[in-house]
Amino acid sequence: MAASDLLAGAVKSSEDSADMTSAPIQHYDADVVTIGFGAAGGCAAIEAHDAGANVVLLEKQPEATHYSNTRMSGGGFHSPSPDGEWTAIKAYAQAMFSGENLPHKLEGEQSEFSDALAAAWATYAPQNDVFMRGLDPQFRKAFLDGHGKNGWAFYGSPANTGDGIRMALKIGAALAKIGSVAGRVICAIPERRLGLKIGLNTSSVGKPHEIVVDNHGRRYAAERRITKDPSRYIFYKEALQFDTVTLTYPRIPSWMMFDTTLMNNGARVSASAASYNGIDWDQGNQNALRNGWIVQGATLAELAANIRAHPDNRAAVEVPLETA
Ligand SMILES: Cc1cc2nc3c(=O)[nH]c(=O)nc-3n(C[C@H](O)[C@H](O)[C@H](O)COP(=O)(O)OP(=O)(O)OC[C@H]3O[C@@H](n4cnc5c(N)ncnc54)[C@H](O)[C@@H]3O)c2cc1C
Repeated sequence: MAASDLLAGAVKSSEDSADMTSAPIQHYDADVVTIGFGAAGGCAAIEAHDAGANVVLLEKQPEATHYSNTRMSGGGFHSPSPDGEWTAIKAYAQAMFSGENLPHKLEGEQSEFSDALAAAWATYAPQNDVFMRGLDPQFRKAFLDGHGKNGWAFYGSPANTGDGIRMALKIGAALAKIGSVAGRVICAIPERRLGLKIGLNTSSVGKPHEIVVDNHGRRYAAERRITKDPSRYIFYKEALQFDTVTLTYPRIPSWMMFDTTLMNNGARVSASAASYNGIDWDQGNQNALRNGWIVQGATLAELAANIRAHPDNRAAVEVPLETA
């Protein structure tokens, strides 16, 4: 079926409830009401419709500017071959869900769920490819417009206000979390949307003309060597390291240092992601420089002094550079 076969309406979030009294009330009859037109709500609505139910799908965002996380996602999905061996696929999934393949057991591991999750994944994931290819092209485009397309941005839709978590907790859901975190070296500028800091993608770590240092000024990983890992997450894990002696995260914030060659070579963040969030980041980086989002120094010593003096730099206050 096409997505347009569903009846879509818009509801106001609880903060706007005062307005609801003045809005004309519309009545719909439905067997199933799904809330939210992301992948989860969309799939649930379609399945219910195809099973013969009369479905109403409620979405809080206006249609013209609807950006769910699904729509903003990279659209990457695992697709093991259906000819694969079920036990091997399950073992792979188990490693993903349990964190058992990682050198350190990370906080958040959910071993009590991982076995059942892995079994379900091994059963259903081999159907992903054929399922995705079988989707109506228009519908697939709406969901899978991804990286590099208009509207894509980190870190999630500005419509993320926690409604879903609140609703789930209210009905007693035990929310499980995935056992690991995918971090990234991003530029976190002091601008907020809906209370959330805006994180902007920086150019990939490991390029010529840039290095990354911690907030003591130490370079902690060989950027180019370590990013040979295609996912680059090895570097990001380095950036998230916790120091058990000082009980600090000395690598947060990290500082990506680059020279004028790179500075003159285009925007240092994803400009399309910036503009999606209403951030004026020009190709020449000049606005970012004026706003203090890029810290400059004519010499390395001057740059170090400016970073030390920056209010975001934690260790500069306590640890002199020469002892760090
Ligand atoms: C930048 C980015 C990249 C990602 N890349 C990938 C990837 O490559 N592969 C992958 O598997 N995952 C990826 N993810 C994660 C994945 O996109 C999300 O986990 C998934 O899309 C969540 O789907 P959802 O349907 O639960 O929520 P969403 O897609 O967020 O949909 C929720 C919908 O509900 C609406 N809504 C919320 N509250 C209400 C309410 N009270 N009333 C009515 N409507 C409401 C919202 O407006 C929204 O439209 C990525 C996420 C992001 C942000």
